[in-house]
Parts: sequence; structure tokens; C-alpha cells
Amino acid sequence: MARQGLQALLRKLDKQYFAGRFAEYSVEFAAPNACTCAAARTNASQGKILIRLGLRDQNLPGVLLHQMAHAVSEDTHDLAWKREMIRIRALGAPLLEADSLIELRDWKAGRASPAEFAAFLSGFLLRDPSATLEVSVKRFIDDGRRAGRPKDYIRSCPWITDTFEKMRAGQARRKA
Ligand SMILES: [Zn+2]
Repeated sequence: MARQGLQALLRKLDKQYFAGRFAEYSVEFAAPNACTCAAARTNASQGKILIRLGLRDQNLPGVLLHQMAHAVSEDTHDLAWKREMIRIRALGAPLLEADSLIELRDWKAGRASPAEFAAFLSGFLLRDPSATLEVSVKRFIDDGRRAGRPKDYIRSCPWITDTFEKMRAGQARRKA
């Protein structure tokens, strides 16, 4: 997609889901290292959204909407952002697949960090080396008194699966 097309997409999504709140915003493609949040970055004070070059066109509306929700909510991935995502989802916004499953009660999952989960796993997998991902996440939720179901965590936090697999692999190496 050309830059003009991206700007037109912002205008269209703004009109459909944000009642013109992004009238002063611009959106540009940027080098991957200029972006965080997987594919994009929003600088609300400069009224600018940066989208990583090279994304598939079909993902651009979802990536842009994700960033627009950051700008409107002034939030990372916590409650205010989720509320905004759920609001636009109800209006039929074409969210990314992972974002389309957000639920408000998942919000604590957003606060659990990969480091916290890794620290939990390092002890848990020693005691129960054959624990599955689902069982491990359930204990992580219970021990930390977090809200939500294991499958929601696994779905809404892709790093949970990555962290689990890395820890399991590390443990298998130490044993060998
Ligand atoms: Zn984000």
C-alpha cells in the first residue's frame, strides 16, 4: 500500500469508529526498529502513527485500529485500551485476529510479564517437569491470584507459549 492509501485508511477508520478524533493525525510507514508494539508505534503528542514497512495490506486496518485505540485510551494494553478495543469491535471494526478475542477480564494477563511467568516456571517445572502449558498457566494464575482462564491467557499473550517452550527446552538441556 502506498503512503497516500495509508493516510486514506486512517481517515476512513477515523470516520467509521472514532467520530473524527484523528483529524489532526498522520500515519506513515517506518523502519522496523522505529516501531514497538509488534508492528507500529503511536506518538499521541505529535499526532503521528508509525506502521512498520512490509506488513501485509490485509493486516493494515487491524494494526492501525490497535494503535488508534492506544492513542484514544492513552493506555498500553491495560483496561482502558481493552475497553476501547471492545467498543470498536462492537461497531464491527476489522481487528487483527488476536485482538478480536480481547475480553475485559483478560486485563490482568496484560500485566503479567514474561519475566514473572519465567520466574514462576523455573520453580514449577522443577517440581513437575511434565506439566503441560495449560496446567502451568493455571497454576500461575492461581498462585498469583490473577483473574481469567488459562486458555484466555494463552490466547491473548503470545509470549506465554514462547516462554513456556523456551523454559522447557532449557530444562531438557540441563537434564541431558
Ligand atoms: Zn499495542
